Amino acid sequence: MKIQCPSPTCDQSISGPKSALGQRVRCSRCDRSFIWADRFYSGESFIIYDLETTGLSPQNDEFIQIAAVKFNSGCLCPTDSFFSFARPRRRISSFIESYTGIENRDVTDSPRPEQVLCDFAAWSDDATLIAHNAKRFDSKFLEATCQRHGLPSREVDAIDSIGISKMLFGKTRGTGHSLDHVKNRLRLQETTLRRHDARGDVDILGRAIQVMHQRLELDNAFNGVPRHTTRLPIV
Ligand SMILES: [Zn+2]
Repeated sequence: MKIQCPSPTCDQSISGPKSALGQRVRCSRCDRSFIWADRFYSGESFIIYDLETTGLSPQNDEFIQIAAVKFNSGCLCPTDSFFSFARPRRRISSFIESYTGIENRDVTDSPRPEQVLCDFAAWSDDATLIAHNAKRFDSKFLEATCQRHGLPSREVDAIDSIGISKMLFGKTRGTGHSLDHVKNRLRLQETTLRRHDARGDVDILGRAIQVMHQRLELDNAFNGVPRHTTRLPIV
């Protein structure tokens, strides 16, 4: 396959095998180093987020909490954050109450998930969304929430941070990529924020992404990291 050098001032065409996807290469004309990808992006605005839900099924369950923080131009912006509880249609089970620490009484006065999602969409603007296990979980909950409530929606670029972990730690079988695996490998300290509460998980994930971004020497658009799409309401 052939790609154009991603440097805006260079028009070198570079060819290489498809197996080089994800590998770091260097342009022979402008000397820019970049990760071999089939497409290059220019946006530098990202949102790192986490959902807690009533269960595992995007079709049958709803999210009950969302926490998010912005990551712009390669830096975490801890002061630019979003947080809300959401009130689901079904009761939060005692299992989920003890796993997340989120109890039914915490959400009594909260808006419905679809309302929270509209607020989140307005806050997120045109950012690309990043979540851990997004491809199989969080992105699907966002889509399902739009769909179930008939919300007019737009396609949004998304990154699964498991993909970033695989780029850094490798894809060898048995290499775990759960948030706990990543946290331990990067030796990140836990704070007093509770894990499995979206705020605690986003705190860990935000710092993990910052460190992985540095170690992989990614550019500000996360070029080279696999992407998928999800949907957010048009607000
Ligand atoms: Zn070049």
